[in-house]
Amino acid sequence: MNLYPLPAHELGRLIRDREISIQELTSSVFQRIEEVEDKIKAFLSLDRKGALEEAGRLDRRLSKGEKLGLLGGIPIAVKDNICLKDQKTTCGSRILENFCPPYSATVAQRLKEADAIIIGKTNMDEFAMGSSTENSAFQVTHNPWNLKATPGGSSGGSAAAVASGEAVMALGSDTGGSIRQPASFCGVVGLKATYGRVSRYGLVAFASSLDQIGPITRDVLDCAMLLEVLSGRDRLDSTSLDYAVPSYVKHCVPDLKNMTIGLPREYFVPGMSREVREAIIQATGILEKLGAKIEEVSLPHTEYAIATYYLIATAEASSNLARYDGVGYGLRTKDVSDLIGMYKRSRQEGFGEEVKRRIMLGTYVLSKGYYDDYYGKAGRVRTLVRRDFEEVFKGCDVVVTPTSPTVAFEIGEKVDDPVKMYLSDIFTISANLAGIPGISIPCGYSQQGLPIGLQALAKAFDEPTLLRVAYAFEQNTDWHKREPEIDLQR
Ligand code: GLN
Repeated sequence: MNLYPLPAHELGRLIRDREISIQELTSSVFQRIEEVEDKIKAFLSLDRKGALEEAGRLDRRLSKGEKLGLLGGIPIAVKDNICLKDQKTTCGSRILENFCPPYSATVAQRLKEADAIIIGKTNMDEFAMGSSTENSAFQVTHNPWNLKATPGGSSGGSAAAVASGEAVMALGSDTGGSIRQPASFCGVVGLKATYGRVSRYGLVAFASSLDQIGPITRDVLDCAMLLEVLSGRDRLDSTSLDYAVPSYVKHCVPDLKNMTIGLPREYFVPGMSREVREAIIQATGILEKLGAKIEEVSLPHTEYAIATYYLIATAEASSNLARYDGVGYGLRTKDVSDLIGMYKRSRQEGFGEEVKRRIMLGTYVLSKGYYDDYYGKAGRVRTLVRRDFEEVFKGCDVVVTPTSPTVAFEIGEKVDDPVKMYLSDIFTISANLAGIPGISIPCGYSQQGLPIGLQALAKAFDEPTLLRVAYAFEQNTDWHKREPEIDLQR
């Protein structure tokens, strides 16, 4: 039996029933990696030895009759901006090419407590800046559904790994859509939780007021399971909040009675592909059949979201990235003459083009004389975006939208046109500005066979309702059961 296409909740059952061993599962995932990684290029580093040793330890605990944690024996991939002690954490950047952090992120600690097995670190756009994973300093990741297409980004490595069977689950991070958009492009499930739900301790900061770590999985139940493991207050992250963590899995029930679902009219924009539009309309029909009431709603400040995001995110990034100066850690230029020259050259050699563009934009936005006009104003518009959602959620439980206006685009198609690339985040960015949770689930395929994603958004800390809607939809459709046929000849 091929184990790699199965979701974690099924694999967990096989492990508990002793039908498969954890070592068997781990080896089969590494075998799959050997088969396809050449084509997909999802990983920046792999820890085969460490993973198999951990699998052996867990198997021994099982045979002693011990009970394992919620993710007992499940192989999981971690985005390369999440710190693992003494293991490379490059963030897809030359400047951190040889950086091994002296501590692990809180989420890594939580995975360990749940007995998951970390198998490797996944490729990403440098410092999570991008929507296609083409901004990685090291390699381009390919979409398992079509090797000529991008997997989306910035968590493209994580989404491609899950879609191709190279990992059962993965962690991504989402600042403006970087979990949901690649999940949508790769036909898997991705969730960005409420800001403050998951600890950011040990996540390399991009835009601190927007960043959240979250799950990328094969189906909604796996997503609920992984979110349960990741969630909760962490005293090491002062922005993590002390809300009780419910059993998300228990909220996965397949009906939508008494639910009202909003369809925002501002999300049906001219640039959107016909296939995406049709898939979303069909999806709302299914939600209606399951008992939900569909209502048209309005989020009037949507049109300002991209501009607002690219002011706030670049401002925060320019300040967060000031720490890479060749002194404490990271790359230092060999060409040292004086101190200032050393700072400058190290940054010049270490950062890629997109990161430099963001630093320049952000520095400008924060500069004296412009601060209030740009950063200050963006903060005020952000409040308006958040209030739009608060208004809408007075009348409905969730809002559904497309995750992205198009299916996966081709490698090279947008990389030379940053504005075009920024526009592809149009549907995902508002949730980060508002701090609310969002999920992307498969809801169809284009004629070319590329996945289409449905996004659902809910009010802050209402992940249970979000998961319930996603689960009900998934259980009544077959989209999540398709698997990509990876062209191994190419
Ligand atoms: N594509 C967006 C950007 O480039 C979002 C990235 C993210 O969520 N990390 O900023």
